[in-house]
Amino acid sequence: MEFKRCARCGCFFVTEGDVCSDCAPKDRLDMVKVKNYFEENSNYSIDNISISTGVSTRNLTRYLNDQNFPNINL
Ligand SMILES: [Zn+2]
Repeated sequence: MEFKRCARCGCFFVTEGDVCSDCAPKDRLDMVKVKNYFEENSNYSIDNISISTGVSTRNLTRYLNDQNFPNINL
């Protein structure tokens, strides 16, 4: 078994993905917020997105580097 460290809370877990099962719903919620932001805004920076959505820049950077997070170019 391979233990991973949760990208949000830092706890160790064994499931797929970047975050533990406690944080997975929060991660999905944040991604929805970020996607909605992209739909409503054409000019953006990491800082602006973070301020508007309340998603930390650290999590934002992680989503944007995630190939599953669709069609986003900064
Ligand atoms: Zn976690």
